[in-house]
Amino acid sequence: MIDLRSDTVTRPTPAMLSAMMAADTGDDVYGDDPTVNALEAEAARRSGKQAALFLPTGTQANLVALLCHCNRGEEYIVGQLAHNYKYEAGGAAVLGGIQPQPILNAPDGTLPLDSVAQFIKPDDIHFAITRLLSLENTYNGKVLPLNYLEQAWDFTRQHGLALHIDGARIFNATVALGVPLEALARYCDSLSICLSKGLGAPVGSLLCGSQTFIQRARRWRKMTGGGMRQAGILAAAGLYALEHNVTRLQQDHDNAAWLAEKLREVGVDVSRQDTNMVFLKLPQTQVEPLKAWLKQRDILVSTGAVTRLVTHLDADRAALENVLAAWREFLDVHG
Ligand SMILES: *Cc1c(COP(=O)(O)O)cnc(C)c1O
Repeated sequence: MIDLRSDTVTRPTPAMLSAMMAADTGDDVYGDDPTVNALEAEAARRSGKQAALFLPTGTQANLVALLCHCNRGEEYIVGQLAHNYKYEAGGAAVLGGIQPQPILNAPDGTLPLDSVAQFIKPDDIHFAITRLLSLENTYNGKVLPLNYLEQAWDFTRQHGLALHIDGARIFNATVALGVPLEALARYCDSLSICLSKGLGAPVGSLLCGSQTFIQRARRWRKMTGGGMRQAGILAAAGLYALEHNVTRLQQDHDNAAWLAEKLREVGVDVSRQDTNMVFLKLPQTQVEPLKAWLKQRDILVSTGAVTRLVTHLDADRAALENVLAAWREFLDVHG
C-alpha cells in the first residue's frame, strides 16, 4: 500500500518499535516516567524554551495552549483555515469559553500584521479581550518567512499579545530553511509540535514554553484527560523520531519536488509544491475514476476540488515511481 493522503499515516519502523520495547517507564502523572522526562527535556533543549510537555495529540497540545493563554471571554486571532480554528471541533470555544477571531491568511500563509492590528479589540465592555496571535508553520506545506516571524514577534510585544505557533510540521520548516528549531521557536511564547506526522511516531505531540506556562499546561492536560501513566513507551518513539527522522525530512521535500515535476511532465495541472506537499487540479471528470484506478493498485490519495499528495518516510522514491507509472497508465486510457 502506498498512502499519500497525509504524513500522519507513517508507521513505526522495527528500530522505533525496539526503542519503544526497551523504554524505561514510570507513572508520568506522578512525574516519574524517565523516558517522558527525557523527551520533554530534549524538546525544551531543542526549542530553547524552559520547559516542554508531552501530550497524546496535536489537537490537545493546541487546546491546552489556548486554555493557558486565554481565559473565558478572551480571544485569539487565527487564520480562517488554521487547524486550531477550523479542524479542532471548536474546542477552545466549547471548553474554554474562548472566542476565535479568524482572519484571512495571505497566499504565503502569513497573517498580515496590518490586518491583525485591525482586529485587536480596544478596551471596551462590548468586546472580548484580545490576548493571543496564533500562527501555523508550516501552513499547508508553506514555510513562513523567517523575517515575518521576527516581525510578528515584535508586533505582539508592542501590542501586549502572546504568540503561539501551531508547529505540527515545524521541522519541515526548519529543514527547508536549514536552521535549528531554536531559530524559529525564539519568535513565539509557545510552540506545539507533532511527532506523529513526518517524524513517524505512532502518536504524540509536544508543547514548549516557559516554566510557568508549562506548569499551567500540565494542569490543563490533566483536566482534558491527557495525563498518561507509563507513557514512556510512547515517548521513546518520540525520542527516536527526534534523533533519526528530522534531517531525513529533506528526502520527503525532494521527493515531493520530484513528483510535482514528473506529474507536470505528463500534463497534470500541478498548482504548487511546498515542503512535503503537492497540490494539483484534476479535471472534474477524472477525480473519481483516478481515485478508483489508483486504489485498485493499492495507492491511496485524497482527491477533490484540490488534490493533495503528501510525501513521507513510508513513501520512498521507488513507491513514487509506481504512483507515477499508475497515473501515466490512467492518462493513457482516460486522458
Ligand atoms: C495534524 C495537525 C494538528 C494536530 O493534529 P492531531 O491529529 O490532533 O495530532 C494540528 N495542527 C496542524 C497544522 C496539523 O496539521
